Amino acid sequence: MFTFVILKILTLITSVDVSACFISIQGRVQGVGFRPFIYRLAEQFSLRGWVRNNNEGLTVYIEGEVSEIIKFSHYLKTQAPIASSVFNISIENVEPEGVTSFKILPSLNLSDEITEISPDIALCDACLVDLMEQPHRINYPLINCTNCGPRFTIIKDIPYDRPNTTMDIFPMCELCASEYRDIMDRRFHAQPIACNDCGPGYECWREGQMTGTSILDILDMSVREIQLGRIIAIKGVGGYHLVCDAGNDQAVKRLRERKGRDSKPFAVMFKDADTASGYVDISAVEREVLLSWQHPIVLLRKNKESLAGLVSVLNEGISTVGVVLPYMPFHYLLMERLNIPAIVLTSGNFSEHPILIDNQEAIRQFSGIADLVITHQREIFNRVDDSVVRIIAGSQRMLRRARGFVPDPIHQTSRVEGILAMGAELVNMFCLGKGSRAYLSQYIGNLKNPETQQFYNDTIFRFMQLLRIEPEMIVTDLHPEYFSTKLGHNLAQTLTSEGKRITIERVQHHHAHIASCMAEHQLDEQVIGVAFDGTGYGSDGHIWGSEFMLADLETFQRTNHFEYLPMPGGDKAAEEPWRMAISALVMAFGKDLNKTILSILSDVKPQQSEWIIKMIRNRVNTPMTCGAGRYFDAVAALLGIITQAGYEGEGPMKLEALTREGIDETYEIELGPVISFIPAFRAITQEILNGYDPGLIATKFHNTVVLAIVESAMDLHKRYSVDKVVLSGGVFQNKYLVERVVSKLQRNQLRVYIHAAVPPNDGGVALGQLIVAAKRREKYVFGCTGKSD
Ligand SMILES: [Zn+2]
Ligand SMILES: [Zn+2]
Repeated sequence: MFTFVILKILTLITSVDVSACFISIQGRVQGVGFRPFIYRLAEQFSLRGWVRNNNEGLTVYIEGEVSEIIKFSHYLKTQAPIASSVFNISIENVEPEGVTSFKILPSLNLSDEITEISPDIALCDACLVDLMEQPHRINYPLINCTNCGPRFTIIKDIPYDRPNTTMDIFPMCELCASEYRDIMDRRFHAQPIACNDCGPGYECWREGQMTGTSILDILDMSVREIQLGRIIAIKGVGGYHLVCDAGNDQAVKRLRERKGRDSKPFAVMFKDADTASGYVDISAVEREVLLSWQHPIVLLRKNKESLAGLVSVLNEGISTVGVVLPYMPFHYLLMERLNIPAIVLTSGNFSEHPILIDNQEAIRQFSGIADLVITHQREIFNRVDDSVVRIIAGSQRMLRRARGFVPDPIHQTSRVEGILAMGAELVNMFCLGKGSRAYLSQYIGNLKNPETQQFYNDTIFRFMQLLRIEPEMIVTDLHPEYFSTKLGHNLAQTLTSEGKRITIERVQHHHAHIASCMAEHQLDEQVIGVAFDGTGYGSDGHIWGSEFMLADLETFQRTNHFEYLPMPGGDKAAEEPWRMAISALVMAFGKDLNKTILSILSDVKPQQSEWIIKMIRNRVNTPMTCGAGRYFDAVAALLGIITQAGYEGEGPMKLEALTREGIDETYEIELGPVISFIPAFRAITQEILNGYDPGLIATKFHNTVVLAIVESAMDLHKRYSVDKVVLSGGVFQNKYLVERVVSKLQRNQLRVYIHAAVPPNDGGVALGQLIVAAKRREKYVFGCTGKSD
């Protein structure tokens, strides 16, 4: 897109011999140092004119020699600031006005169109040097510049200028103000800048009492507490973190207990990438992502059996560990003073509640959990967690989309204006349409608890206000009991009662998954969709989750799925995978199921299995599911690596951790519209009874799922002549599985699409809902009958 537009500019400028033009730039160009960049370029090429921010982006007027304008355009493309992203440039040739200098003009509020708001940017290298050397910013823990610092987390309204941020209450000192005004300074028009004299500071609290405000004292206290094995809470960019020594068994266990987080893996922060490479494998791509301006948590493979020096309770039974490097000044100052290799850095919340952002709340709520609470006075307006990514098939794949990525839009080819997609339930994110841009919210979380519901509700209204969107269409899942579905309906009712015209659209969960991946790749045609996850409400009222479909952006036809398994106890079976293991055994052995077979479930008491078998046979509180996630759960439980799931996806993650390279064997399955794993379950059971290595069994099971996907997709390709395959759903967070499916399908000349910027898990569902609703609306507008799931 960008290259094409630049070429067009050059053609225009050279063919029509003009020496003045207006350039309008859309994209992420505010709050990322774009205006000073333009200014310096104009100076470099002796061009005159002006640049200004407006709601739509940036407008530039330049005049000068044609050859210099061409050079200017070239540099505009190749030297743009690191965190900027240009989506569109348009140019208009005009008569020269005869101006004599280049100026930055005040921002203009033009219309309801909005420009892109920058996500938060990790501390830059130049600021890191200033942190050590610049007299008024030595050890100033909230140092930033046009190339780094908070953005989305502090913005209250657009355009992005200081009075519209939470820095509005801190007047700049004369020195900061002079930097802000100095076009040649790196802090020129950097909205959140501050220094030791004028900026917000840090505070340290112990048991509800403030004990210090000197940053050096606070660092000393923090270091001491961490090294003594205590837990401290530290306010970050988008919320609080809880921190402790990652090498101290007792500290990590205590953190788990206090946080109410039984077994979910903890992320760790190392001082730098070299230190981290002593514990985890880091490829060139992974290093690049760790050090990118977003600084996300990257899932990396442990390079030894255990993280020698770090404790195993961080991530028991999982082959990866989430690693993040320091991304705000306080992290650097802390890490360089600690004599330990890594700290646990986990969201400051309780079980599944949203990350805390308010200072008073944090001081109150953390007083029983953390020995110290380190706060700062820069208010967080928009809460964001750390983002989590993984390198799969050679590229960065989003698992949790938040800090550094939100609120970047996903560009669409259709008009999505005024559509609010409510998302799903467990790892909820919603999505709002503006023009042809889809704005996915930050990671909201599990909508089963009231605190997260409140966060969800508030954030929807905040996005509507920030993006100037009035919904005309609300899209929900088919599941009648999802909080997101109910809130969508309530919202529609409220807006209708205010006299607005609102339509409600419903999109099936797995269709939304596939559409989400299609929207990310701007596909608008019929594809073979493979949506694998734990659970989603099916059009037939059963629980789906191993769906093969012929789908386009409007509708879908389900073609194949795994055989339904009983789910004894409903949702309880997702929390207790041993129930799914019994379910698999009942399916596989029927009346032949005996005590010897059941003995492989050594953690399950005979009365428990008897009771579950009765439930299944009598169909008491036993819905049917074909969720692929439940199949992974069943095998993980048969292998004895999980009995109870401490968190969503634990069974599949532990099973993936056992996989090994170099094993190509598979189990037998029956392919067809209903894919039966009965022969596979029988073989797995026999191999467990024969004492086979669990790693071999786990790998063969993965290979069997790969086989089911590849064979079924190939069959659909032959029957329907469709050659694009789209993979989505939480199961495709599994690196082993994805890489094999992709390479095998590609070897068969199929084109495979997987997620990159949008999570494959339920976090991405809202984008799919949005695009499906947009396509159906186009049909209504043209007078045709819309289709529905
Ligand atoms: Zn900086
Ligand atoms: Zn200052």
